Amino acid sequence: MYKTHTCGELRLSHCDQTVVLAGWVNVRRDHGGLIFLDLRDRFGITQVVVDADRHPDAHAIASQARSEFVLKVAGTVRERPDGSANPAFATGEVELAAREVAILNRSETPPFYISDEADETDETLRLQYRYLDLRRPRMLRNLRLRHAIISDIRAYLAERDFIEVETPHLLKSTPEGARDFVVPSRLQQGSFYALPQSPQQLKQLLMVAGLDRYFQIARCFRDEDLRADRQPEFTQLDLEMSFVEPEDIRSLMEPLLIQLAQDHQACRIQETPFPVLTYRECMDRFGTDRPDLRFGVELFDATAILQESEFKVFSGTVARGGVVKGVVHPGGAGQSRREIDRLTELARQGGARGLAWLGLEHDVTDASDIGDGTFRSPIARHLDPRELAGLVAAGGARAGDMILLVADDEQVAAASLHLLRGDIGSTAGLIDPDLFAFCWVTDFPLLELDAEAGRWTAVHHPFTSARDQDWDRLEDDPGSVLAKAYDVVLNGWEIGGGSIRIHDQVRQQQLFRALSLPDEEIQREFGHLLKAFRYGAPPHGGIAMGLDRIVALWAGASNIRDVIAFPKTATGSDLLFDCPAPIDSEQLLELGIDMTV
Ligand code: ASP
Repeated sequence: MYKTHTCGELRLSHCDQTVVLAGWVNVRRDHGGLIFLDLRDRFGITQVVVDADRHPDAHAIASQARSEFVLKVAGTVRERPDGSANPAFATGEVELAAREVAILNRSETPPFYISDEADETDETLRLQYRYLDLRRPRMLRNLRLRHAIISDIRAYLAERDFIEVETPHLLKSTPEGARDFVVPSRLQQGSFYALPQSPQQLKQLLMVAGLDRYFQIARCFRDEDLRADRQPEFTQLDLEMSFVEPEDIRSLMEPLLIQLAQDHQACRIQETPFPVLTYRECMDRFGTDRPDLRFGVELFDATAILQESEFKVFSGTVARGGVVKGVVHPGGAGQSRREIDRLTELARQGGARGLAWLGLEHDVTDASDIGDGTFRSPIARHLDPRELAGLVAAGGARAGDMILLVADDEQVAAASLHLLRGDIGSTAGLIDPDLFAFCWVTDFPLLELDAEAGRWTAVHHPFTSARDQDWDRLEDDPGSVLAKAYDVVLNGWEIGGGSIRIHDQVRQQQLFRALSLPDEEIQREFGHLLKAFRYGAPPHGGIAMGLDRIVALWAGASNIRDVIAFPKTATGSDLLFDCPAPIDSEQLLELGIDMTV
């Protein structure tokens, strides 16, 4: 009754057919006797022409129509007159000569014009009127892409014998390193559910159940401070397999990612098979465990070169157990003071106390090449020629380059140089936006020291297994134990991570103890898992991929909010529903909750 075709469907081959369309008024142009309406739906836009002489009733109705009115139009498809075809629309060669126009609903004037230009509109307004924002072509494209990616993932895994299983949202704490969102129970007052930070333990229990290959497009809930690539609830492709080692998970996921990249977007993949880097190597070369491999500018270590230097800023740091590391900014020697101040500020954001810089004016092969005019730098005169030549060689710097150095704790130097490297990559135009550079990162430490709490915590989560050869050192040298964990990184974003799990209850207890968890807490929080492990748990492992991030990277969106239909703001609010919001005192009473604020 409402429509025979979509607004994106009509072509020259439909000419002379009688059709009915329904959609929204994108634009209305009133030329007196002729009204032009661009009618829009999810599929496209069709031009409708209403002629006052031939169809006065339709014309009278069309003259009332305004932007975003919902119309039904019946008429005949015809070729647009010579010279008026519009190649911007797939339907641009034809128009619908309207015979009947009906207003199905009216619209108030929308707060912003429904077009991709509304990207410039304040995001708050877009989120308050998300249903209008989602009418825009770019947002619709993002939702369509998300759907297509999820459909392909499902097909890929189903072909490989995976079963999709839903797991509960009302559950007990499932730690992934964030705070839990909690839900009070009415039936058991004083007790709470925790929303799962991931289905981690559930998928492991499914392996104990013998499912062998599980996946889920799973919603995860983590109460943590939000950033551009985080939401309090987000979606993962979560999967788990029995009888596997890390290589099996990698060789399952890699072809899937390649297929998704090839089928859904124009980016070239830089390298296959994806490079596999250890955590250590990543930190040394890039200062981060999520390296952007689209460009070089690798870090170099100048600790050995400068440890004996007369210049105490460097040798003093080394004597205190710190490092001196650097990057070379290609062609950056001539930067202004202002630009250098900006880079120094960036290094400070990474925690560094300062940034040393040396602009290289001439090529240097050894110490004898070094003279007065070789460097533009406030520190060059404090360093001897051998040290300077050593720095140039270690960084591979050439005339016109700028050497940037950070002397600090290893972690601080890494964090600062990672920020500098990223900045150099984009300001020096070294990043090809049409490139996808994937890599795997492996051999993460199993534990890290929480200096404040004075105890070890799991780097990944407490169900991750140590490497077989490392278990012996768990008690005596926990910091040296490496995990059977792996991340997959794309263009500097961690898009997924997983591990081989502990499947032995004795080992699992051993790990909980290494985390200084009291036995009573272990039983209370994880007794169910330990018990399950007593009934024939198979060796197993898995991975979770951040679906929102993947779709955002594929869509070229800078924020995951743009690929989520109803996202929350950076303060965790939903601006459309205006929540979180207080609840009735009656509801609180039923839950046995007394408010103190
Ligand atoms: N549960 C983990 C996470 O959400 C992923 C995994 O280990 O499979 O990060």
